[in-house]
Amino acid sequence: GATIGILGGGQLGRMLAVAAARLGLHVHVFDPDPACPARDVARAATHAGYDDADSLKAFAAAVDVVTYEFENIPTETLDLIEAARPIRPSREALRVSQDRLTEKTWLEELGLTCAPFAAVDDAEGLARAVERIGTPAILKTRRFGYDGKGQARIATPGEAGAAWEAIGGAPAVLEGHVDFLREISVIGARGLDGKVACFDPGENHHEGGILKTTRIPAEISHALATDAVLLAGRILTALDYVGVLGVELFVTETGLVVNEIAPRVHNSGHWTQNGTMIDQFEQHIRAVAGWPLGDGRRHCDIVMENLIGDEVETALALAADPAVALHLYGKAESRPGRKMGHVNRRID
Ligand code: ATP
Ligand code: MG
Ligand code: MG
Repeated sequence: GATIGILGGGQLGRMLAVAAARLGLHVHVFDPDPACPARDVARAATHAGYDDADSLKAFAAAVDVVTYEFENIPTETLDLIEAARPIRPSREALRVSQDRLTEKTWLEELGLTCAPFAAVDDAEGLARAVERIGTPAILKTRRFGYDGKGQARIATPGEAGAAWEAIGGAPAVLEGHVDFLREISVIGARGLDGKVACFDPGENHHEGGILKTTRIPAEISHALATDAVLLAGRILTALDYVGVLGVELFVTETGLVVNEIAPRVHNSGHWTQNGTMIDQFEQHIRAVAGWPLGDGRRHCDIVMENLIGDEVETALALAADPAVALHLYGKAESRPGRKMGHVNRRID
């Protein structure tokens, strides 16, 4: 069988590896951490830095196609791999989504709506941006942010200086606060043949900047759900995308506002493991392997709940509930804010 190379061996890499194994494909994971969650499942692993050219070349030579579980892969790493093997989703998807400024600019050029935003390079620039965007607003680092890290809220112009300090003075974007009714996301997939399959939109709730629950279906009209799926389809097609993509959206009085996109399987798509025949992980593996996409139709209502930090200690009690499917990532130690597993709970 073919061998899929996965850059990054966290929980997303692990669940991709499980899906690939089920399809009889081999997985070779590349992650600096010898104890990374995907290690238990992968047939082969390379533990080296993303700047280790020799290890990267050997990794690329050992696989047929390379995919990834995180978007912050250094350009030089990608250059080395792409010289030898195809990277799916493509470099363009990474280029667009690695940097919030590039991403928002690209989305607006596509004709989609984002929160009002302005680039911020220094403290004076932030003052000008606050004047233009107004408050409340959110200052976000352009790169490397996740789970609400690298963000600071600005309620009044007087808080700008503290926000700039809080994000460490890194290049940033200032975003106007969106007064949303709900947050939803669409997990979409596009195959090598250009066919698109999207899962039903889910409704997301965050706690402390971290996704806590996704509820499927989102409580939105059929028209809005259709809009959301078509919007995701536009992004997939414009990027000539191959694989699974997450699109985070705000539902507002005037329509859908794009928060951000993620060129990979997405936490808000974990419900698909127990709510569909073909989940997001299998869908992604099928796409990058050049197989036909699966159908992805939802067969029940579900709430996905992340087990964060020591919440994982409740896992066994949860497992006794007949409506619950348990997914644990095999991480040795729990830390506050660390995603340790999740449960999918069927709602009747
Ligand atoms: P992720 O882990 O999803 O990558 P992140 O660190 O990239 O998270 P965002 O998705 O930008 O962070 O923001 C996290 C959450 O903060 C959003 O899901 C939303 O609840 C809230 N938020 C972010 N930007 C805005 C905004 N402009 N207006 C209102 N709420 C916002
Ligand atoms: Mg993000
Ligand atoms: Mg987000």
